[in-house]
Amino acid sequence: MDRSVWMYQIECVTIEYLEYLPHFLKVAEDDRVKKGKSRVHCPCKNCLNWECFADLKTIKSHLIEKGFMQRHTCWDFHGEVKAKR
Ligand SMILES: [Zn+2]
Repeated sequence: MDRSVWMYQIECVTIEYLEYLPHFLKVAEDDRVKKGKSRVHCPCKNCLNWECFADLKTIKSHLIEKGFMQRHTCWDFHGEVKAKR
């Protein structure tokens, strides 16, 4: 499923959202390990990637309660590179 669909067009806390959410958490965790960081940026609507947490469960609960910040389909804070135009 396209990210813009499951991240924004499905209402939070549907089965689909909860099914796809671990995919983001996996990417974020892999990036944390790869970079040897202790904490992960939280891309929820409140934290906007400014806040970092060591515990992915905190981020997961933020993303369930608040949802993703807008226009975050490229997870550039979590190791992805934006496509060049
Ligand atoms: Zn957050």
